[in-house]
Amino acid sequence: MKYFGAHVSAAGGTENAPANAHKIGATAFALFTKNQRQWVAKPLTAAEIDAFRRACDEYGYTPAQILPHDSYLINLGHPDAEGLAKSREAFIEEMKRCEQLGLDRLNFHPGSHLKQITEEESLDRIAASINLALEATHGVTAVIENTAGQGSNLGFRFEHLAYLIDRVEDKSRVGVCIDTCHAFAAGYDLRTAEACEKTFAELERVVGFRYLKGMHLNDALKILGSRVDRHTPLGDGMIGLECFRYIARDARFDGIPLILETPDESRWAEEIARLKAFAGEA
Ligand SMILES: [Zn+2]
Ligand SMILES: [Zn+2]
Repeated sequence: MKYFGAHVSAAGGTENAPANAHKIGATAFALFTKNQRQWVAKPLTAAEIDAFRRACDEYGYTPAQILPHDSYLINLGHPDAEGLAKSREAFIEEMKRCEQLGLDRLNFHPGSHLKQITEEESLDRIAASINLALEATHGVTAVIENTAGQGSNLGFRFEHLAYLIDRVEDKSRVGVCIDTCHAFAAGYDLRTAEACEKTFAELERVVGFRYLKGMHLNDALKILGSRVDRHTPLGDGMIGLECFRYIARDARFDGIPLILETPDESRWAEEIARLKAFAGEA
């Protein structure tokens, strides 16, 4: 079974996200459990937690269909001590919110060296940050997203993801989310079935599909290897529809949230319907 959805709004409270996903025919969804542009959030109340869980039950979303995303402010590989401590504290808070909501994974961008320390030093900080967060929480998997490699963002090579997983003590609670736009921008071709075959064979060889806990399905505005993170609706960009047909038909992507982060929300229902048709689940 394929779970297709989008990163939906949780405005007014996390309990509104399941209905927003249901409205567009989604069988999966992503959400922010707090305002992603602020450091602090008020704690979740028992009433909100209860309402979120009831809404998930009502619309039939299990934790394997939900991929929460952390705040964009967090940098777990931060070069300075203060920035790193603040990021770690906020990340642990977000892991705890997922735990409270009964969710089993949290998707995050690994971090940036900000040109002040080496890639390796920053990656080591990210790995240590993940270990701290796993020690402080229970039952939630830290899901590392590959990046486009824009600016000083790390995680644009599958080897970066493998490097981090290698250094995480509890391998049962670390995973990866592959964003198609980011992979393409980082130089992994996805334009044809053959290109997909090759790129995902490399993912298997370097990281391993057993760590795959979600996908972001986005087409890319810029050319292969551009290192620019700009999404487009599926079929409107440089990747094209073949990649999404390939993913929809390949069993290695079964049972995990496959999430659109495409820019035109009004097209999500149509994009999800097309993905379901590709998968033969229409
Ligand atoms: Zn993404
Ligand atoms: Zn992106």
